Amino acid sequence: MNKQNRRSFLKTVGLGAAATTAAAYAPFAIGGSSKKVVIVGGGMGGAVAAKYIRMMDKSIDVTLIESNKDYFTGFTSNLVVSGQRSLDEIKFGYDGLRGHGINVVIDKATNIDANAKSVKTAGGKTFNYDRCIVAPGIDFRYDRIDGYNEDVANTKITHAWKAGPQTVMLRDQVQSMKKGGTVIISAPPNPFRCSPGPYERVSQIAGYFKKHNPTAKILVLDDKEKFSKFGLFIGGWKKHYGYGTDNSMIEWVKGSAGGKIESVDVAGMTLSGEVDDYKGDVINIIPAQKAGNIAHVAGLTNASGWCPIEGKTFESTIHKNIHVIGDAAIQSPLPKSGYAANSEGKVCAAAIVAMLNGDKVPDPSYVNTCYSVIAPGDGISVAMVYAYKGGKIVKVKGSGGLTSGKFNAKLRGREEQYGYSWFDNITQDTFG
Ligand SMILES: Cc1cc2nc3c(=O)[nH]c(=O)nc-3n(C[C@H](O)[C@H](O)[C@H](O)COP(=O)(O)OP(=O)(O)OC[C@H]3O[C@@H](n4cnc5c(N)ncnc54)[C@H](O)[C@@H]3O)c2cc1C
Repeated sequence: MNKQNRRSFLKTVGLGAAATTAAAYAPFAIGGSSKKVVIVGGGMGGAVAAKYIRMMDKSIDVTLIESNKDYFTGFTSNLVVSGQRSLDEIKFGYDGLRGHGINVVIDKATNIDANAKSVKTAGGKTFNYDRCIVAPGIDFRYDRIDGYNEDVANTKITHAWKAGPQTVMLRDQVQSMKKGGTVIISAPPNPFRCSPGPYERVSQIAGYFKKHNPTAKILVLDDKEKFSKFGLFIGGWKKHYGYGTDNSMIEWVKGSAGGKIESVDVAGMTLSGEVDDYKGDVINIIPAQKAGNIAHVAGLTNASGWCPIEGKTFESTIHKNIHVIGDAAIQSPLPKSGYAANSEGKVCAAAIVAMLNGDKVPDPSYVNTCYSVIAPGDGISVAMVYAYKGGKIVKVKGSGGLTSGKFNAKLRGREEQYGYSWFDNITQDTFG
């Protein structure tokens, strides 16, 4: 393929990064070479970047290092908590990516040497790269809540904010809770993975209780004064779960009213805030967050605990030749979501292919839509398109939208179905 053709192809990919499907991307090969990309983390960002680099340029050698042999999606995991979906339905393996010629290594990356341009793994291997993509997702700031740690999260008081065994543990705790018991959910401060996620979780658990344990209560202790899709969630809670009445199944306590949690007494199942103590039968703590550990080890984070990047290529502003995508990056105004990670993965893939071939990096666009299910037949969404202008990622005025606050059963039912079909499309796009 000549340079001009490759350039116009890359331009199409950059502009088309907003598209959900792979339909616009025709795979092609440009002959043998020794260009090497190593990707750390095979989640929503890393997996799609690996696949799209191979689809754009088969001469690039792509190695994907991922700790786990199976990936569980964060999105839809709240429906596992409520028993609407099984864990198997949100589980994906890496054979699809192997089929694209990606060298998938199930191992944990333990160090990245930016000078030597190499990644080391727990299994004792070293992988050299021309360009590295770091997409490890998030880790937790357990130190912000006295008494909370990884061991407690794995055994008694879950976060269930990385989908997997803890998701099932929380589901079982909710389903076996005594009649009329209380679930407490502690919601994290900004910024964190999936801003509407805690409130979708509240809605899903409420939906389960409405059917199986109607006198149960959910107490939401929040660090914040407001949250994503606030009006839509509050409206939905009023419609389905009696919010605001004496019989409300849900109580939400904002930060300034004592919602901020300082410590947990695990044996006594009690959370303590600035104002009060709260005892629950089931407790779910979603802690404050930071970039995944390997990003810290590799020196890719700044004082915020997240990774500063350049928004056109997602190259780290700290270490050259290393790109950070997904939740670990400081990508605002893009949110920390699976859809945004997918979009970032494609933009980064197009940039890396251009850079490795000495071509001009295409001008990107980015997209995000986030669906939440408040109750069966009641889906809501928020969407936005972003562009790169003046050296920054910016929202494209007038491009987005939010589900109308005026309830329309037909529309809300459709939104729920769009959400389910989005799940099918994005997981196929990423792992297929
Ligand atoms: C309850 C919940 C609901 C959500 N709902 C939505 C939604 O409706 N829509 C939406 O768009 N998003 C949603 N999300 C958010 C979405 O899941 C994340 O934003 C997305 O997964 C981020 O992608 P990522 O690639 O940055 O991280 P991840 O998808 O977490 O992938 C990171 C990967 O890196 C691997 N890894 C980490 N460190 C290493 C290492 N050292 N070596 C090797 N591998 C490593 C991990 O094992 C993991 O597989 C939700 C999340 C949760 C928890």
